[in-house]
Amino acid sequence: MKNCPSCNSSKMRKYEFHQQEVDQCQACHGIWLELGELDGALSVADNGNSQVYMEETLGEILGESKCHCHVCDKKLSRYHLMSGFEVEVDTCSSCYGVWLDHEELEKVSQSPAIAKALLELDKPVHKRTWLFQFLSQMPVEYNLKPKRTPWVTYALLVFNVLIFMSYGLGGSSEDFAFNNFALHSDQVSHGQQLWTLLTHMYMHGGLMHLVGNMYFLYIIGDNLEDTLGRGKFILYYTLCGLGAAVAQILADPNSMIPMVGASGAIAGLFGMYLLWFRHASLTFMIIVYQKKVSPVIFFGFWILTNILGLYLANESGGGVAYWAHIGGFIAGIAIGLLVKKKVFAANPLLAILNSHEVKVKR
Ligand SMILES: [Zn+2]
Ligand SMILES: [Zn+2]
Repeated sequence: MKNCPSCNSSKMRKYEFHQQEVDQCQACHGIWLELGELDGALSVADNGNSQVYMEETLGEILGESKCHCHVCDKKLSRYHLMSGFEVEVDTCSSCYGVWLDHEELEKVSQSPAIAKALLELDKPVHKRTWLFQFLSQMPVEYNLKPKRTPWVTYALLVFNVLIFMSYGLGGSSEDFAFNNFALHSDQVSHGQQLWTLLTHMYMHGGLMHLVGNMYFLYIIGDNLEDTLGRGKFILYYTLCGLGAAVAQILADPNSMIPMVGASGAIAGLFGMYLLWFRHASLTFMIIVYQKKVSPVIFFGFWILTNILGLYLANESGGGVAYWAHIGGFIAGIAIGLLVKKKVFAANPLLAILNSHEVKVKR
């Protein structure tokens, strides 16, 4: 190896990249891989699960590179590493050597995992997804399966259902439950029944209220729990529920209408999800037309309907706690922004999936 293809420095040294001995520039820290070395390295980076054939499947050619192949004495060509993952790599069309800039090494190392993830994320809508949404009016989620079983999400589901069954199936316990455990703004704003700040989020006003909330908790809670870990997940869930309650109390401190439901806490999960899972999709249905959309669009539309509902409810009354939804959502966005850096540092694959180089088919 002669000079660096990128910066022309003469200080090229041997370097081990995923068990392949390659040449690294000591000035710009990019690396040069000969034919076969990229596939060899990526097969190792992918835990040796299967042989990777990235060199044969490079994406679109983008034009001439500023880098120069010092083996063949000609310009390199710029390519996307693969379709759907638009990291630029430079390749020689004669000797098939590959140049990787230093900033690309981590992204390139993750590319077999990205390729596998895209197989899941790019799945198209299907007759089954259409029928499900048409009948249930609920979205279908496209995201990666969590690596760990989401026990906290499951526990929340079971707990909410059990609480509902304890009073919601008729009988005299319903009044007792609502009087003592639902959130009454007029009580809490006067320092009474403060425990209802917590208890209201495990109660629901009816079966459809429960089912709707639990479905959303089920589809997005698992990914958030996997990303955050169990302790932080339940902590942030609770904080968002409290944010929702506070917003509702501030909006109408003397209200005597009882408020119940996990909606505020779950609205907070929406906020975190749209910030950290840009690569995920949810299906949106307009009458009979089903389309995959990004979480930003899906939950952005959801929050707009809540703001609109707020104006309409001012004229007609109405039973939805719009302020709680908005408050929970804002709490989720705030937490999501505050801890985003830490979350991405702890989940490198998630960080790369959220980068602009990843293009999901919708
Ligand atoms: Zn260099
Ligand atoms: Zn060459």
